[in-house]
Amino acid sequence: MYINGEFCDSEDGQTFMATDPANGEVIAEISKAGISDTKKSVDAARKAFDSGVWSGLSGEERSRILKQLVDKINENAEKLTGLEVKDSGSTVRKAGEDIFLSAKSLNYFSKAAAVNFNEDIPGLSKEGVSKNIIRYEPVGVCALIIPWNFPLKMAIWKLGPALAAGNTVILKPAMETSVTACELAKLISETEIPKGVVNIITGSGSVIGTELVKNPDVDKVGFTGSTEVGKIIMQNASSNLKKITLECGGKSANIVLDDADIEMSIDGAIYAAFYHQGQCCEGGTRLLLHEKIYDKFISGLKEKVERMKIGDPADKSVTVGPVVNQDQFDTVMKYIKTGIEEGAEILTGGKQSGSEGLFIEPTVFVNVENKMKIAQEEIFGPVLVVIKFKDDDEAVSIANDSVFGLAGAVWSGNDERALSIADKLRTGTVWINEYHLLSDRAPFGGYKQSGIGREFGTEGMKEYMEAKHIHIDEIKDRSKKPWYRTVVPKDS
Ligand code: NAP
Ligand code: MG
Repeated sequence: MYINGEFCDSEDGQTFMATDPANGEVIAEISKAGISDTKKSVDAARKAFDSGVWSGLSGEERSRILKQLVDKINENAEKLTGLEVKDSGSTVRKAGEDIFLSAKSLNYFSKAAAVNFNEDIPGLSKEGVSKNIIRYEPVGVCALIIPWNFPLKMAIWKLGPALAAGNTVILKPAMETSVTACELAKLISETEIPKGVVNIITGSGSVIGTELVKNPDVDKVGFTGSTEVGKIIMQNASSNLKKITLECGGKSANIVLDDADIEMSIDGAIYAAFYHQGQCCEGGTRLLLHEKIYDKFISGLKEKVERMKIGDPADKSVTVGPVVNQDQFDTVMKYIKTGIEEGAEILTGGKQSGSEGLFIEPTVFVNVENKMKIAQEEIFGPVLVVIKFKDDDEAVSIANDSVFGLAGAVWSGNDERALSIADKLRTGTVWINEYHLLSDRAPFGGYKQSGIGREFGTEGMKEYMEAKHIHIDEIKDRSKKPWYRTVVPKDS
């Protein structure tokens, strides 16, 4: 672990093993923090914040130092990619892309550090003679809690804006995938980021995550993970009314209209649903097909899904790796069973692939009704459900009939028609003829139970800032004050 600029083990010497889901091999032994280690990390972040070693630097200075970490990630991209493949079961293609995008996003945030967000706004007093400044300041100590599906990328999505804005942090990666966060600590130690500004602790969410969320010295929690844990965090953070941002689950609709390019949208549907074995919060896991193209689409989809290559994620030609762990494997297999019991029909897949490793065949369900569990709940595995619709209004109403509201897409040859659907979808992101593509400049986050707050762009930066209004009054003559002789008694 990395606390106050020092590498350390947990106080009680406890550890856990990092394993490779493709073959079950142990790849690292990692310290398992307890409550006292967590408190130590919070103290370090608190002291570093209060001392001003980071928040007191100019934005340009923070920008320059963060850029050092961007360079370190790029220099170590190959090593980080290899570790991510082994620790998470990510295909080497996806992991390579993740590391590249992590460096790219951090570069964006390093530039954002130098941006002056402050504003001068028009005078507010009756006479209009005042100067008004809105200043954006760091929130303070931020606990950053992340999931296992995009390990390094999620770490950077949180560290980037938090550090750019001048906060100090405690990062807690998922136990399932803590290896690249530990590696990141090494890279951070080689930069000029002052000690105590970034602390990285590893261990169980229900223990050390809870301590971070309840600790009164933590000012903000930035969380990405399940909606279920998001709700617990919201409750626990209420003790001192911490600021929170929650990036949670989804069950996004991928809508294909009757005027879409069929071949492209079949490829798009596969990419939307099966990227990273379906372990993506924004995945297009509900495929909504116009009845006019339904049959043609389904036969093309089946043929292509059956040609996807499942196997060793380190093999560059493989597109389907294992799911992350036994629990996730069991959950996905249980949902497949539920789908059959609910009366949906398997078009393809539905079974474990091979007998070794946690591989599941990409699975497509047809004859699905939107009220079924497999259409309402987040499965977080390679399972796609297909639902037929008659017209655009019905597509919108099925898409919005969900407790989630993270993302979605529309495939159409007519941008205006697609846009009018996009406008009606209650989700944070809508792609037209594309999927999964996020921009560093565009806010990303959820409506409804997909979360609170946004990441990226100005909105994302402001989640890690407090806004302060400073009013400088320029009426120097007291008799000209608008409140003169209204509340204050006359001179005696
Ligand atoms: P998770 O079980 O909610 O865990 C996320 C993180 O929270 C882990 O670090 C976990 O620790 C920690 N945690 C667990 N219980 C906690 C508690 N009581 N207090 C504080 N922290 C706690 O999610 P996951 O299974 O890792 O990831 C999958 C979920 O993440 C999916 O629902 C997916 O949709 C969502 N996700 C959302 C986005 C987005 O941007 N919207 C992106 C990626 C993933 P340990 O697991 O290490 O114990
Ligand atoms: Mg692992």
